[in-house]
Formats: sequence, C-alpha cells, structure tokens
Amino acid sequence: MMAGTSTNTSMNVPAASRAFSWATPISALLMRLPCVLFRRQSETRGVLASGGEGSIKPSGMGTGRTSSTAARAVLTEDRVLQKGIAEFYDASSGLWEDIWGDHMHHGFYDPNATVSVSDHRSAQIRMIEEALQFAAVPEDQMRRPKSVVDVGCGIGGSSRYLARKYGAQCQGITLSPVQAQRAQALAAAQGLADKVSFQVADALNQPFSDAQFDLVWSMESGEHMPDKAKFVGELARVAAPGATIIIVTWCHRDLSPSEESLRPEEKELLNKICGAFYLPAWCSTADYVNLLQSLSLQDIKASDWSEYVAPFWPAVMSSALTWKGFISLMRSGWKTIRGALAMPLMMEGYKKDLIKFAIITCRKPE
Ligand code: SAH
Repeated sequence: MMAGTSTNTSMNVPAASRAFSWATPISALLMRLPCVLFRRQSETRGVLASGGEGSIKPSGMGTGRTSSTAARAVLTEDRVLQKGIAEFYDASSGLWEDIWGDHMHHGFYDPNATVSVSDHRSAQIRMIEEALQFAAVPEDQMRRPKSVVDVGCGIGGSSRYLARKYGAQCQGITLSPVQAQRAQALAAAQGLADKVSFQVADALNQPFSDAQFDLVWSMESGEHMPDKAKFVGELARVAAPGATIIIVTWCHRDLSPSEESLRPEEKELLNKICGAFYLPAWCSTADYVNLLQSLSLQDIKASDWSEYVAPFWPAVMSSALTWKGFISLMRSGWKTIRGALAMPLMMEGYKKDLIKFAIITCRKPE
C-alpha cells in the first residue's frame, strides 16, 4: 500500500488543529521557540547525529580517524546516546502516559476524515492493526505468533495488546528502567503478568538466543539506533524461521539516483530534531530495504505512511497545551520540554516531504 507515494499532510493538519483551536496563541509561541533554541543547540551538539543522515555506514567510517581511535570514539558516542535515551524516557514517560495512555507511537488516521479528540487513542491501536495487516501476520490458531519480542517497548502497550490478541508470550526491551518497571506493573494490573515480561536491554545486543520469536516487533524505536545494520541484524537473528519482522520507524526521504546526500538545509533540520529526541543520524526507507535484502530476508515490503499519521503531531502539541499537559510538562524537566519544543520541527519535516513515516516488513526464510 502507498509505496513511493508523495505525502500530503496539509489536508489533515487543520482537522486536528480545529479540535484544539483555543490553544492557538500558546501554539504560536511554541512554534517560534525551537528556531532560537535549536539554532544554538545545533552549534554545540557533539554526539548526536553528524550530518542528519548516513547512519547505515559502518560505525566510524569516513571520519578520517585511525580505526581503533574511531572505534573508541563511536563506543563513547553510543554510550552517551544510550544514557540520553534512557534519561529522556525515564523523565517523559509518566507525562505521556497521563495524557496519551500506554502507546508511545503515532496514530493511523483516515486521510479523508475529520479527526476528533477521542479518535487519537483508537488511532494508535489502528496503527498496530494496520502494521500487522500490512505484514500479513497470520491470524489463524495454528500459525499466529506464539512468541513476540517488542524491541524498544516503551511502557509495553504493544506487548500487552499482542499478548491479548494472539495469546502469545511477549518479551519487551527498553533502555529506560522507569519504562520497564511501569510496563511490568501495568501487565500485572491487567492480569497479564504470566504472558508478558520486560527488561532493560540494548536492541543492538539483545539478551535472547537465536531464532526465538515468531514475531519481531519494532514500533518507533529504529530511529534511536546508532547502527542500523546491527539493529536489523539483531532483529533477524532473534527471529525464528518463518517469523515476521515489522519495523515502523521515522526515515528521511529516499535519495534520487542523482543525489549523494540530502540538501544542507534538510540535514540542518534533522540535526535539530536529533538533539531534542536523542536520535543518531537518520537513514531512508530504501536503506532499510537494502539492509534486509543483504540478509536474504524474504517478502520484503515497504511503504510510506506519512499521510496516515499527519494529524498526530498537531494533536500531541495541542495536548501539551492543556493546563494539565502544560503543568505536567513543566514538572517533567528540561529534556521533556526540549522534546516538546521540537514538535513543530517534526511537522515541518513532514510538510517538506523530508521526514517519512515508514513501515518495512519481511519474513525470515523457513
Ligand atoms: N514501541 C513503544 C515505544 C516507542 S518510544 C510504543 O510504541 O509504545 C521508543 C522506545 O525505544 C523507548 O522505549 C526506548 O527506550 C527504546 N529504545 C531506544 N533505543 C533503544 C535501544 N538501543 N535498545 C532498546 N530500546 C531502545
């Protein structure tokens, strides 16, 4: 569905914005702040994302450093990034859950419908269902997934949903101790403690044996991974023969055959977003497809779902501008506030067709 189509976000944004129009003045203020704040930050940023793209290159490549020095530098950068991600989600997950519930991902919307406030949570569930359908995950009793890994699990919303839907055993990993603990507590409260479990672990070095899972699920965590080849390699390693791998992630636009890289102003915008959301360099959907092909995975499919997620960021921004949202935001510290201030930049990226909301799926050969 929709592979290679261009995005048209403008038609959705007003619908979501209309529902929150009272927040416009504060919105306008928020829209302006990032320009100032992120200009400064991108000048001083050291570890997060060099160049805004190109993360599928082997670590350290092209830096001009000797290989051992380069390897050490990359290791340090990765540790700094991991610490930042853990602290970011430790600090912001409570606020998110309060306002948005237990799914920390975009919603999937009908591009032609007017969006009402109450639609956002069901749109997040729709995202899970659409992803499963796109990947053609079997539903019948015999072939449906019995074991699932949720890579970058947040507070475990997908794990609990998939455990209920398939009766599967789910294991989630996250870098954030606060998220892992909250995910487990919610599972216990919902009577799912024997079905799902969560731990703090690195997606690039997963604590699982080879070929363990029938469904490998990564919902909006890939953008945080500093080494995309290693990330995809780990997803493929833990997948059982015949397993489905689903990656839903933020990408930059595919390059045209005549282009070697993104334009400077595009890189600059992505760099600003990297600093706020603890992201390393971005890659394109085509880069993911190439990586999956290089591992001989089958039934590789990719699609641009940007137009289906268009109402999401305006809605998140507006929810941060309710009194409850605003006060919680101020209480949850600078990292979370900086993330909130980057929301208009995400909207700008989508509008400029630079940021793509991508789904990439495949199957491990039997
Ligand atoms: N998939 C969840 C959460 C998305 S937020 C949901 O849809 O609700 C991104 C998640 O990726 C966070 O939980 C973060 O801790 C996790 N993450 C980022 N980098 C990671 C890494 N290297 N290893 C494990 N988890 C990671």
